[in-house]
Amino acid sequence: MFFRDSARLTIPFIGAVLTASWLSLAAFSAHADNKHAINNTVVNQNAVSHKNLASSQSAESSKNHVVLISLDGFRHDYIELHNAKNLARIAKAGVRSTSLTPVYPANTFPNHISIVTGLLPIHHGIVDNRFYDKLRPSKEGSYAQYSMGKAQDDSSWITAMPRWHLAEFQGHKAATYFWPESDARIAGALPSYLYHYSKHADYQQRIDQIVQWLSLPEAARPLFVSGYFSLTDTVGHDEGPMSEKTKEAVAKVDKLIGQLYDRLNALSIDVNLVVVSDHGMTNVKDSHQIMVESLNIPDYFTVLNSGAQVRLYAKPEVTYEQIEDEKNRLRLLAEGRFILLTSVERDARHAQYNARTGDIIMETAPPARFKSEGDTHVSKGSHGYLNTLPDMGGLFVASGPSFKQGKMLPAFSNLEIYPALAEIMGLALLAPIDGEIKVLREGLKEE
Ligand SMILES: [Zn+2]
Repeated sequence: MFFRDSARLTIPFIGAVLTASWLSLAAFSAHADNKHAINNTVVNQNAVSHKNLASSQSAESSKNHVVLISLDGFRHDYIELHNAKNLARIAKAGVRSTSLTPVYPANTFPNHISIVTGLLPIHHGIVDNRFYDKLRPSKEGSYAQYSMGKAQDDSSWITAMPRWHLAEFQGHKAATYFWPESDARIAGALPSYLYHYSKHADYQQRIDQIVQWLSLPEAARPLFVSGYFSLTDTVGHDEGPMSEKTKEAVAKVDKLIGQLYDRLNALSIDVNLVVVSDHGMTNVKDSHQIMVESLNIPDYFTVLNSGAQVRLYAKPEVTYEQIEDEKNRLRLLAEGRFILLTSVERDARHAQYNARTGDIIMETAPPARFKSEGDTHVSKGSHGYLNTLPDMGGLFVASGPSFKQGKMLPAFSNLEIYPALAEIMGLALLAPIDGEIKVLREGLKEE
């Protein structure tokens, strides 16, 4: 493991990586030009058909293409539970794991960013879907708040280099038909092809675009493509993981993935398809909700309720004793409904104290939920809890030339995905990461 001091993860550090990357980019471009010249010579001499041309050109590089799709909130056991025939078919032709363990907390943004950086949330910066940063004071005497998608306006919220950069900085193209924060100009760069997020974007259009990108001539074709579908999460929240509506949502995305798989297989190049989810989904009950206002938290804390946790950020004038007093008061109030994370529990969750994680973290367990007055939304399903709870486990299914066939793996951490896909694409890791290929190694073909 390449754990490192989060203090090192500063913008100058990213800048240093960027400088080094531009140097290697120049070297890789020169290499790419040479290869192209050689391929052109082959074309002229042999006058091969277009399809043969594509396969001869791609013999060296095309087997490394990766399409990474995220199905938000798709629980590890939905394939059986909701009869996802296409995902079962792809798993049979490739690799599947019994579950994919998310990072803490089991929420969308920290996990999507971990999947594309190989870093724990405390290192990539997106510690939850919403959080405050005590190093960013606001005019109102509170702190600036991150919320989902905010890095598009201010990419300094993210302190890491996403996978699309890894491809771009090594002379390849990358494309994203959505991935959380993939339209943030991190270190001044974006994927070559991208769409700004809209939940209204047509699902079929996303599949068509992904296939079209991979049908481009080699010089324009992206090595890495991502796609993202929110449907199973939205319906899972509204109706619960076991409902008929969730079954219908699974059927809809399963059909799309089956279509994508067949169309990718029909291309003249070989493509690895990797389908993951960020977290699972569990039943919650309104009768178990904990009203945050009933806890009477003093106003010298800025309070952030994310459902499974409440984070308290002490305002600047607050003393250490006041924070400790409040912890003791809340512990007495908890009566088994929630816990206040100790430093040992925070270590275990990699949620150690920093400017973003909060001075106090209260955590509840399903079917309970923290709720704020004015929040009228009734949810039957939720996530964001302790990441190792079985229901929080997500999906991993992959098939293609780099994966073994018919291999079932035990659960593994989603931090393994970044280094594994980098290896498949032949990309060097340009910065230290937290993830390491362990369990997933058993699913990869040996070179
Ligand atoms: Zn969700």
